[in-house]
Amino acid sequence: MTKLNIRNCARCKKIFVPTSGEKICPDCRAEDLELEERVKAYVRDHPGITVNQLIEGSGAPRNLVWRMIQQGQFENSGLKDAKYPCANCGKIITRGTYCSDCMAKLKQNAQKFAAAMNSKRKAKEESTSNKTFSESMYDALDNSRNR
Ligand SMILES: [Zn+2]
Ligand SMILES: [Zn+2]
Repeated sequence: MTKLNIRNCARCKKIFVPTSGEKICPDCRAEDLELEERVKAYVRDHPGITVNQLIEGSGAPRNLVWRMIQQGQFENSGLKDAKYPCANCGKIITRGTYCSDCMAKLKQNAQKFAAAMNSKRKAKEESTSNKTFSESMYDALDNSRNR
């Protein structure tokens, strides 16, 4: 039996089959794309507007507008003040998903995690190291003989 990979759309709760881990169904996705087009057209028609004016004027959800800024969809458009909040602490930023403070914290956590993984792997390697050591010794002998 094949396990069918289905999921509830995060927005409309409809069941759908994700093709690459997306969280919303194709219908909602199409709706998003349509909205994005509308938002872009709004900026084109109103050069020099701010993010807040865009959100209010176009009626698009602010999360969508923020995501579009983050994706660089407004580069060289008429949008002024292309800023949005850090996904973690809400501080206003202009690029990336997190502010520099949160990035530093995340990096620290990632390093801690990597270090923990490393020591785990080391412990595993040590328990099997006798065999690998003698094997590599034979390899080294073979190599020196061939030379
Ligand atoms: Zn949906
Ligand atoms: Zn932050």
